[in-house]
Amino acid sequence: MCCRRVSGISGKSDSDVTGEEVGNCSRCWQGGYNRRMELTTSITALKGVGSASATRLKKLGITTVADLLHHFPRRYEDYSRVVSIQDARPGTITVKGEITRMQSHKTRRGKTLTKALIDDGTGAIQAVWFNQPYVERSLPKRTPVYVAGELAFSYNQYALQSPTVERVSAFPRNAARIVPIYPVTEGITSKQIRYWLGQVLPAKLDDPIPESVRETYDLMDKTGAVANMHFPRSMEDADRARYRLAFEELYILFLALRDIKCEVDNQEATPVTFDREAIRALVADLPFSLTGSQRKSAWRIIQDMQREHPMNRLLQGDVGSGKTVVAAIAAAVVANNRLQTAFLAPTAILAGQHEQTLRDILAPLGVEVALVTGANRRKERGDIIQRLRANQISVVVGTHALLEDDVTFSGLGLVIIDEQHRFGVDQRKRLQEKASNAPHVLSMTATPIPRSLALTVYGELDISFLADMPPGRKSVKTFVTTNADWVYRQLQTLLDSGGKIYVVCPLIEESDTHGIKSVQQEARTLQQYLPEARIISLNGRMKPGEKAETMQRFADGEADILVATTVVEVGVDVADATAIVVEGAERFGLATLHQLRGRVGRNTSRAFCYLKPTDGFGARQRLQLMEQHNDGRLLAEKDLELRGAGEIYGERQHGALDMRLARLSDAALINTARQAAADTPESDMGPVLKELVNNKKNQKHLN
Ligand code: ADP
Ligand code: MG
Repeated sequence: MCCRRVSGISGKSDSDVTGEEVGNCSRCWQGGYNRRMELTTSITALKGVGSASATRLKKLGITTVADLLHHFPRRYEDYSRVVSIQDARPGTITVKGEITRMQSHKTRRGKTLTKALIDDGTGAIQAVWFNQPYVERSLPKRTPVYVAGELAFSYNQYALQSPTVERVSAFPRNAARIVPIYPVTEGITSKQIRYWLGQVLPAKLDDPIPESVRETYDLMDKTGAVANMHFPRSMEDADRARYRLAFEELYILFLALRDIKCEVDNQEATPVTFDREAIRALVADLPFSLTGSQRKSAWRIIQDMQREHPMNRLLQGDVGSGKTVVAAIAAAVVANNRLQTAFLAPTAILAGQHEQTLRDILAPLGVEVALVTGANRRKERGDIIQRLRANQISVVVGTHALLEDDVTFSGLGLVIIDEQHRFGVDQRKRLQEKASNAPHVLSMTATPIPRSLALTVYGELDISFLADMPPGRKSVKTFVTTNADWVYRQLQTLLDSGGKIYVVCPLIEESDTHGIKSVQQEARTLQQYLPEARIISLNGRMKPGEKAETMQRFADGEADILVATTVVEVGVDVADATAIVVEGAERFGLATLHQLRGRVGRNTSRAFCYLKPTDGFGARQRLQLMEQHNDGRLLAEKDLELRGAGEIYGERQHGALDMRLARLSDAALINTARQAAADTPESDMGPVLKELVNNKKNQKHLN
């Protein structure tokens, strides 16, 4: 039943309802929907939206009625406490009375001070507006109004501070209620948005969530949820509305992920057979014994590849956890089946390192390994391509150069993608399409993504974690400091005992996209403080070959300090690097810092990390988490809480998920929505839901 019929609003009876709003109860949204407006109607059809407003609204992404309905408040202001003036106490309140007196005058500084007296029969109260000269003209005198705002002491008395004034009606939007505050842009106010929404609400909306699911999880229906997001009767209602809409976003995502997974499962892959003895021999030949989780994930991968459907697995392990050897084992199994492996890496340096590692591990089995990068000579490249076609090469490691059309295979069985977040879905597809059957896919990442986020971002993948580190690794001693002199002294001490040091600097200027200027400047400063140090640098403009050569010189000990922008972030392995300095550390997320820190401490000697924020405050607390913790996943979780998913995982990824309300740090909600999706049979899905799920599938270009 409608609340209006039960209790009336603020003591008013139905007869007070003004013409425009007949039939709509803004408090509970019953008593008739607004049928004048189609959801696709242009926003310009609304009263008060002219071409200027329409242009501004477009900036907010609002062009239709549906867009307006989905433009949700950022927060609320609670003006629901309507008090008589004699009972008014300091705080956020609404009073209902008439403006009896009003005057404006200039202050000594030339600002306008407007004062008004509001009387409700029990007493009178002052309201003040500072420097809002237009207020005086807009205030209705001698007519019942709500005045809502903060009652506080100023100008020698208690007064309402710059309150909102609205004529009394059955449907107050700006006072005497919980008032929504919207994201706005210049020339658009929350008050306007409320006014426009008043013309379209309540709008009857199709509910994509099946009724059975709504009942099981006690969810508001769609119509009620959208209405309550904008004009809730209580904060509980607002919370329930938000929960319901966030649930919907995740529910649709998980249904889409289920579909994608199902499609992959229906593809045919070439199953591999597993020669246990050969692999056992290969593992026994390694210079170390595998950690428990390396063993376990290798085993899972082999099991996956024995099936007739493609493997689609993500191997997540902190920097230095030893993912490469797991990938090598997978490649060995595939090679034993006379099938080929393509191993994609984001940089030439990394590809070169992987090729070397794989060659070392696989050579005893007689497996041919080749390297394809932009640095290959034409003849060399032609030769590799030919031998790939003839199945004389079993494993090819490479950069984007692998994706080109002339690279073809005689039987591509496995695709390995290192640092998978650096590649787009199209790039991965291009590699996959080089196989006649669907290839098995192993993606690898060091991004220590929290579980709740992994479920949403990588939901269609099976995930293995390398939880334990190879033995003997010491944690990197980390310092957050703005004391440059102290850091230089520490570096000098390290250099004296033969240390190798990375210095990472952020880009100084937007225009310095390759970091040339930043790197040069940093190198000069370092040289001044450390005159004997041999300093070399890397920048983004260098050719891949040049970069690899520079890295090699550093690895070989021809230089003591390597200055670079974040190029060293990705997977580079210089085992005896002893320290890393990160300038402008506050610009990096904790996950990135943790990856950078992972460049050092790769052997058993003590290693150090110096984080130098540009300013000592602000970021300090966050950075200090780096001093306290060495666990990448824990740091990622903290970062997610502190900064939100968009900041950390990039707006692009976050945007592709298109989560407006669901917070990806809300593990409980994510799990609930996932369960609900898993429990929903296809037959329960209505046409509206199906369409949304399909759109989501096409939108999710993440992996
Ligand atoms: P990431 O997971 O960051 O890609 P890598 O595969 O580059 O790590 O391995 C980091 C280093 O650890 C390499 O030098 C590798 O040889 C070594 N390593 C890998 N597994 C083990 C192990 N089980 N025991 C000892 N060292 C290992
Ligand atoms: Mg790696």
